[in-house]
Amino acid sequence: MAECDEDDADAAITVQHVTNTPLIYEPPASSFYANTWENMVDPEVVQQAFASSWNADMNFAKGLIFANKDAVKHELTIYAAKHNKNFITNWSTKSRLSVKCMDESCQWYVWAVLKLELGLWMVTSNRGPHSCISLGMALDGRMMGCNFLAVEFVPLLQKNHTARIFHLRDFITAKYYDHKLSYYKIWDAKQKAIAKIFGDWEESYQRLRKLLVAYLDQEIGTRYWYHTIRSEVSGDTILRYVFWAFAPCNEGFKHCKPVISIDGTYLYGKYRGVLLITMATDANNKVLPLAFAVVDKESGLSWS
Ligand SMILES: [Zn+2]
Repeated sequence: MAECDEDDADAAITVQHVTNTPLIYEPPASSFYANTWENMVDPEVVQQAFASSWNADMNFAKGLIFANKDAVKHELTIYAAKHNKNFITNWSTKSRLSVKCMDESCQWYVWAVLKLELGLWMVTSNRGPHSCISLGMALDGRMMGCNFLAVEFVPLLQKNHTARIFHLRDFITAKYYDHKLSYYKIWDAKQKAIAKIFGDWEESYQRLRKLLVAYLDQEIGTRYWYHTIRSEVSGDTILRYVFWAFAPCNEGFKHCKPVISIDGTYLYGKYRGVLLITMATDANNKVLPLAFAVVDKESGLSWS
């Protein structure tokens, strides 16, 4: 049975041990591969299937409808990017949104409200077009905030989560009227988009115990261990080390040469750390990974 330093929080997590099956390695349970991006039913996507009645060739006008407030703000940003204007928010509540031109002397404004009977947002008042002078040649994308960009990046990063910053920047430049955004802004938006897809760093750490128990649930011979410490400043629980070894790897070691290799690679996420791997080789010199660990740094203490 696996060990851990804290047992109170694990009490609510139970493991279904299968005891009446022989010790052979069956294909994993269907739950392991059933929920893919292709067949996953996401009710949020269904609810947002409605496309707004605005398109980039139009001005904002009374009667236009949108799926939700975020959609109104997103389309307003596209409009601002196209015309190289900028706007500020007057009011933003659960049922009302009022924006006006950044230039105090300009008349342009848009007011949208939630129509409860439709479950949609509608522009109920607006004045335009802009009477201000355009932002000129400065196509710096100042109207495109990180949240707007993160929404744009999610589909791209779902296909390729390692997309480089300059690729993302080129994508925005091509799609949004030659605006050239700063590296840092794109980088920050990418972090937000990754968090939308996979959850953020803190959420990932909170899922660690559940993941380890799921490993054990799939193969009872799997082993894991982790060590946490408590922050004296905040009182938070901090992960120090985690180790796991999959049952098939343990079983396969019988057929390997009795030599274990060890290696480590640095993790470049928010909290850094080092991923350690132990490996063995079989008679054909094929590598079999035996165990994995994440530690703060490679040292005699962490290796032990
Ligand atoms: Zn204006």
